[in-house]
Amino acid sequence: MTETGDRSDYEGRVEVHDREVLRAARSVIERCSNPAAMQAEVVAAVRRNELWRGEQCLNLLAPEAPTSSTVRALLGSEIGTRAAEGHIGPVNRWFAGTRHIDEVESLCMELLKRLFDCDYAEHRLCASMIGNLAVYTALARPGETIMSLAQPVGGHSSNRSDGPAGVRGLRIVDIPVDPEDLSVDLESFAEVARRERPVLVALGASMTLFPYPVSEMATVVGEWGGRVFFDGAHQLGLIAGGQFQDPLKEGAAVVTGSGGKTFCGPQSGVMVWNDDRLTGPLAEAVFPTLAATHQVNRVAALAAAACELLAFGRPLMAEIVANARALAAALEACGVPVLGGHRGYTDTHQVIADVSTLGGGLESAQLLARANVITNKNLLPWDRRENWERPSGLRIGTTEVTRYGMGRAEMMEIADVIAAVLVERRAPEGLADRARALRAAFPRLQYCFD
Ligand SMILES: *Cc1c(COP(=O)(O)O)cnc(C)c1O
Repeated sequence: MTETGDRSDYEGRVEVHDREVLRAARSVIERCSNPAAMQAEVVAAVRRNELWRGEQCLNLLAPEAPTSSTVRALLGSEIGTRAAEGHIGPVNRWFAGTRHIDEVESLCMELLKRLFDCDYAEHRLCASMIGNLAVYTALARPGETIMSLAQPVGGHSSNRSDGPAGVRGLRIVDIPVDPEDLSVDLESFAEVARRERPVLVALGASMTLFPYPVSEMATVVGEWGGRVFFDGAHQLGLIAGGQFQDPLKEGAAVVTGSGGKTFCGPQSGVMVWNDDRLTGPLAEAVFPTLAATHQVNRVAALAAAACELLAFGRPLMAEIVANARALAAALEACGVPVLGGHRGYTDTHQVIADVSTLGGGLESAQLLARANVITNKNLLPWDRRENWERPSGLRIGTTEVTRYGMGRAEMMEIADVIAAVLVERRAPEGLADRARALRAAFPRLQYCFD
């Protein structure tokens, strides 16, 4: 590589990130007279986000949830500066001095077991995606076949060729899906599965409206010793709150999920199972294979969030689903087409709108963000994988607005703002005040001990 002399010149470099955004950061750094000023810029950007996204927006991103002040305080706690490689217990650790770390981690693990009514829980996953890689590491060998959901029907990269399953060298066959309500086509599944004999079938998706036929699918793959693995990244809180199917009780061998989606804890991963024979392989796939230091501050925050779900999970999750159904119905009434209407729209925190006739997913999400309403573009079943940048759908989640105490009346108001932007084509900036006022009317986080 040749030295260009001008280090601010990005031309000619290979960059996957947006060049303009990186260029702006560079000029901010160059304007700073010293590193302390640079640090102040970092802090200021965090504060700007806290003000805008934290206090002035209606955050309807399905993979987000607000955390209690206790959970947030624990994320910044001293214990996050301590190293704790290994399994719980003095002999299992590489380092001495882990007495209180063992207390925190064992509390977290036992709370998770209690919450999910299961025999085993894993707390050391810095992301749910790492949990999925742990499952593929423990329960499948390179070259073996798995089945999973394709991205246009809601599947996540972690179970596909461009994620952990692909990195593990697994052969991936699609689970057949009915595109109308994103449900598994059981008859075709049985036929394909009996032909392909997958060792694992990964269920659960990023776009997810209704339960899956876990027990029927587990029975089919049980014919050759295959297993169902439930990737409950999105539904983890709903499962904990008893508002979604319980995959372990229905025959899934292992469940993974995100700490920061409906679970309302720190962004991270959880893994739970019941079968003694899986304990060695799964726990050892986490350590020593995929995690060394695993952020004990995050483990503490996860434990605190589990306590909130033990206390408030049922009413909170029931309200999240009721709000999602109300929002879906209100959107459709305002002229925004929504998937799943023939089945009551949704059994989760998600609403999936088809905005292909309203400008498409990218434009819709960008317009709404200018109105302080945060959603995301999403592939729909009839989109091609290559249309990732400009898909037909919009994914909307009700976790955050519900935890701030909003109910059915507010869902009507939110639908009205969304329709004003997408259907009536009003200027989004003119609606930002309405979004800001609605958010400001619900300042206090609910369903917590704070
Ligand atoms: C979000 C998501 C993941 C990844 O979860 P992280 O905790 O962000 O790593 C995995 N699987 C599915 C289906 C998801 O939606």
